[in-house]
Amino acid sequence: MSDVSRLPGPMDDVWQWQRLGACRGMDSGVFFHPDGERNPSRSRRTEQAKQVCRGCPVISECRRFALASREPFGVWGGLGESERRTILERRDAVTMPGLVAVS
Ligand code: SF4
Repeated sequence: MSDVSRLPGPMDDVWQWQRLGACRGMDSGVFFHPDGERNPSRSRRTEQAKQVCRGCPVISECRRFALASREPFGVWGGLGESERRTILERRDAVTMPGLVAVS
């Protein structure tokens, strides 16, 4: 018999929020850019995704997940890729002050 004592416990609670997302069942192409997409198409698509997020009951959970997992692509929790990158860079600069680049 397999020893499962070292496996993580049930993860259902961790992912429960995704079932409640306003984007559930929507075309993921609204939230993730296709290859070669340029402005202004990107700006329009991103704004459309953020509009969905604004009415989402799990926006905080989604945003927290995307930042914690350093999700590089798409709109998550109402934040675009560059917005999340900026937040993470600022957060990293605070938690690792020795690594702050001088600009
Ligand atoms: S916040 Fe946006 S991306 Fe996240 S679950 Fe809600 S609608 Fe989807």
